[in-house]
Amino acid sequence: MSSAPRKLSRLWSPSVAPDLPALPVREIIGARPGPHLLVTGGVHGDEYEGPAALESWFGELEPAKLAGRVTLLPVVNVAAWNARQRRTPADDADLNRAFPGDPAGGPTARLAHAVWSEFIAPADAVIDLHSGGIAFMHLPLAGIYAGAGDGAKKMAACFDRRFRAWLVPDCPGVLSREAHRVGKQVAGVEWGGGGALDPAGVSALLAALNRCLVALGLDDTSLSPADCDPRPPVAGNYETAPAAGIFSAVVSLGDEVRAGALIGTLLNPLAGISTPVLAPRHGQIGGLAHRAWLEAGDRAFYLG
Ligand SMILES: [Zn+2]
Repeated sequence: MSSAPRKLSRLWSPSVAPDLPALPVREIIGARPGPHLLVTGGVHGDEYEGPAALESWFGELEPAKLAGRVTLLPVVNVAAWNARQRRTPADDADLNRAFPGDPAGGPTARLAHAVWSEFIAPADAVIDLHSGGIAFMHLPLAGIYAGAGDGAKKMAACFDRRFRAWLVPDCPGVLSREAHRVGKQVAGVEWGGGGALDPAGVSALLAALNRCLVALGLDDTSLSPADCDPRPPVAGNYETAPAAGIFSAVVSLGDEVRAGALIGTLLNPLAGISTPVLAPRHGQIGGLAHRAWLEAGDRAFYLG
């Protein structure tokens, strides 16, 4: 196999998931040996900053200046993407709760298994790019897991003060969590949501991704270190709506709230019921529901 630096672009169809559409693969093979970085977007089909940033980045990267290999999967769940929704239409499953997957499972479990085997297993470092999707709006967060290795910490330090540091919750089946558990250097990233594309998010992601190449040793040109937000990481979890209703928040992304503080109300005009949504503990608002109507149990806010 030639070791010449080059870019490759292809469609890849996993053999265990022939019922699902092929996914685009972008690869950059550097001029010298080095680490293998995988960056994923579109694990949820209604998130846009990650896919937009990866397509732009693929156009900019110069293989002759790089070591190692960069694999970009701008849209991992193409069936969900084509439906403009978070979940895989065929089985209404969330791909980001399905890793490392199951070759004998449903379409989503098989896709997870195929992506895991083909792309995550051979990578040294993994960055998974998300947004809040149609239903949610996230504070920009650049996260690592408890017990993260030096490579992950170096990647986290590449995200400048447009992002808050994040301790990603330990949630089984999440791509980044499962990759972290098998020893990959991992970063999980959120920006925006609401089904929109924020161009500022694309710019911020591109700056961070370029710094990650330097931090991981794929690029030996010098980049100034990121000017990071010095505050402690946002660390917490999603809180759910206690009842169905129109969610009207009285807090904003980034606000600090005390235990018992009012986050918003859920108004059900047909039943004439208004249900308060309260903070279960002190924390920062790391995300808020974007869709007006919430069912009981839907994600209402992220308290970090
Ligand atoms: Zn997502």
